[in-house]
Amino acid sequence: MDSIAAIRSRDALAFSVLDSEVRLAILDSLYDLTVASGPIAGNAAYSTIKADVGVEDSGRFSYHLDKLTDQFVTKTESGYRLAESGREVVRLRRTGILTDDPTVEAEPVDGECYRCGGEIRAFYRRGYLVTQCQECIGLIDHELVLDGALASLAYPPSGVSGVDIETAFERSHLRSVHTFRAMADGFCPNCGHDVTVTLPPAEGEEPGDDGYGFRHVNHDGMIRFACDHCGRRHIAHPLYATDDREPMADFFARNGVDPGWDRIATVMSWPVIADGDDLVYETPDGIRFRVDEDLDVSRD
Ligand SMILES: [Zn+2]
Ligand SMILES: [Zn+2]
Repeated sequence: MDSIAAIRSRDALAFSVLDSEVRLAILDSLYDLTVASGPIAGNAAYSTIKADVGVEDSGRFSYHLDKLTDQFVTKTESGYRLAESGREVVRLRRTGILTDDPTVEAEPVDGECYRCGGEIRAFYRRGYLVTQCQECIGLIDHELVLDGALASLAYPPSGVSGVDIETAFERSHLRSVHTFRAMADGFCPNCGHDVTVTLPPAEGEEPGDDGYGFRHVNHDGMIRFACDHCGRRHIAHPLYATDDREPMADFFARNGVDPGWDRIATVMSWPVIADGDDLVYETPDGIRFRVDEDLDVSRD
């Protein structure tokens, strides 16, 4: 395996290739010309891209196109197309995460607080969509998070641009469950590596570094997912992360609890006890769900 220094140096070179407005315009143009039409990329002719980007000087245009070729752009017999790395660059830029920092003021959203039943609201700040209760202390206890925060989800600026906050609130929670389901299945949806699941530290046990995250949540039934490669970490409710498997899928279907906030709020409101290495949750109807270290869920 390459050393970290070698990887870093290759990455720095790749980023330096992108340090040009003309090259970014070429990637955008190729994206629109060849990718937007369908998942199987077509080719774009040299003259079409050149005209689209609007660089008249052929020498200058060729220089920039050559810099991108192989790394981000593939040259074919009939023209050029975007390599997957080139598409990823365009998609990443279009999320706005590199450059945009919008703020959306708090507005009431449909749903209620799973702690106190109070009204909830959502706002967006510094790349996070935050769901907040105004009547209780909320879930997250952290100096960077406002009182009453019930959820704080990383969400791209594009998700709140031209989209109302209620819709962004719903979508951000639906998006998070897809991430949690993959991690509950043992892999990171971001990078494809293994995920380690950690249950909360036993009572009286110091969480230590390994307990990172747990000390910031006012709930004893949350687990932590940690990707071993890219470092993606999430604190999640295990019955929500396994909502597409039995027995939870059947329970939610029977009770008409929709994915998204309804489902999160439902499981978050259930009391939990630790039983040996397991966590046991109890519904208001007295149904008990047991979760073991492998995230296998069973009805007690
Ligand atoms: Zn509340
Ligand atoms: Zn990862």
